[in-house]
Amino acid sequence: MFSARMELPEDALSENLYAFALASTQIKEYCNRCLTNTTRLKKCAGCNEFFYCSQECQKMDWKIHKPECKSIQEHGTLASDSMRLAMRIIVLLGKKNFGHVTASYISTGSRSFLTLVDHGSFLDSGAEAFYQEYLNFALPPYPEPDVVKSVFKKISINGFSVSNSMGSAIGHGLCIKLSAANHSCKPLTRVCYRNRTAMLVPIDPYKPPTSLEGACHSYIDELQPVSARQAELKKKYNFICICEGCMDDERNEAMEAWACGDCANGKVPNVEDGRCGSCGWKMTRDHYELCRTAEESAIAAKPKIENESIPLETRKVLCEKLMELFDETLHAFNVHRVVPQRLLFFASLAVQDINGASKHGKALLAMMMRYQGEHDPIVMLKKWQIAQICHANGEYNEVVKLLEEIHAPLKEIYTADAPISLNIGRLMEMARSELQKSR
Ligand SMILES: [Zn+2]
Ligand SMILES: [Zn+2]
Ligand SMILES: [Zn+2]
Ligand SMILES: [Zn+2]
Repeated sequence: MFSARMELPEDALSENLYAFALASTQIKEYCNRCLTNTTRLKKCAGCNEFFYCSQECQKMDWKIHKPECKSIQEHGTLASDSMRLAMRIIVLLGKKNFGHVTASYISTGSRSFLTLVDHGSFLDSGAEAFYQEYLNFALPPYPEPDVVKSVFKKISINGFSVSNSMGSAIGHGLCIKLSAANHSCKPLTRVCYRNRTAMLVPIDPYKPPTSLEGACHSYIDELQPVSARQAELKKKYNFICICEGCMDDERNEAMEAWACGDCANGKVPNVEDGRCGSCGWKMTRDHYELCRTAEESAIAAKPKIENESIPLETRKVLCEKLMELFDETLHAFNVHRVVPQRLLFFASLAVQDINGASKHGKALLAMMMRYQGEHDPIVMLKKWQIAQICHANGEYNEVVKLLEEIHAPLKEIYTADAPISLNIGRLMEMARSELQKSR
């Protein structure tokens, strides 16, 4: 099979989104057609909710936006993000636009909306509820119920989170071609966007993907213990993960390792007879109980920490208590730390506590570097965020160091004239001239 050895063509891992729906919190920031983010957007005069960068974009989007626009006028409110995505796809299907793509590197030869997997009856009850919600929002004429249900199933299984060039989620979308790529908890690519173009960007320069299916990205937050990842994948996507990450015992053990009771950075596997990998110290009964309590507290607290209806301050206090509990129990790279660490970082930013943001951001970055690596776009974007905090904190050496690592690769991903590339260049200059001054 010579074809399997062939390198993937340049455009194999990028694609214009077939359809997308901006998150309701983002509709004022982006063109509803091309996802350009500019300050000079024009409002749709029909619904007074959505914006366009130009008349051309508005015109091109009108047929797809029309049902959405009319339903806003009728109900005085926006449908949910997934409902709007479905409504937009239903228009495309009505126009017989199935997003058909043919290419030699697609294992089945071609793909279209019609060939996307929906996992049979797995999502039946969700699909039924979604159909009832659809009838509440959309205006007639209605398609057959099965069409709506199938759209729901296909976007649940194949949908992508759409992000901006800062890596922040701005909506939901569907790719026909790229949805062929499999999942891995130790992914080879990360999904990035140049406006409306989705790209599977290779994470490891020494391990470029060799097929579309094999350009695995992570469908979930992979910084979780193996059991939590597998449970989430089973629940959302109905498969039992046997990816490279799930088979990597050493990595999985590190993700759940406990702190040594004797030496400073020692790692002890989370089992009763665990021994420290550095000093050989054997787990005591007391230490085992303490560590297990810390681990159970982390699991119990996660839904509360992620519940946005609980005040940020309350969640912050909870996370601070957890971090204290983790101090001598969970190893520094134990992924149970990730959720509280993220929240503390976010909470510091929210009140412009620069020292706190710097501390928590760096701890989070160390964790990401350990499991995702320096070439991963989400790691580079985190460095960019931390560089801005360091700049506000007067740590100019740190700023230059961080930005030198990411300037060229991010320019390659987002293009040289993308706002992020220009902003990185600018901040690097500023930090350098501050360093000059202090010499
Ligand atoms: Zn536009
Ligand atoms: Zn409108
Ligand atoms: Zn896995
Ligand atoms: Zn030790």
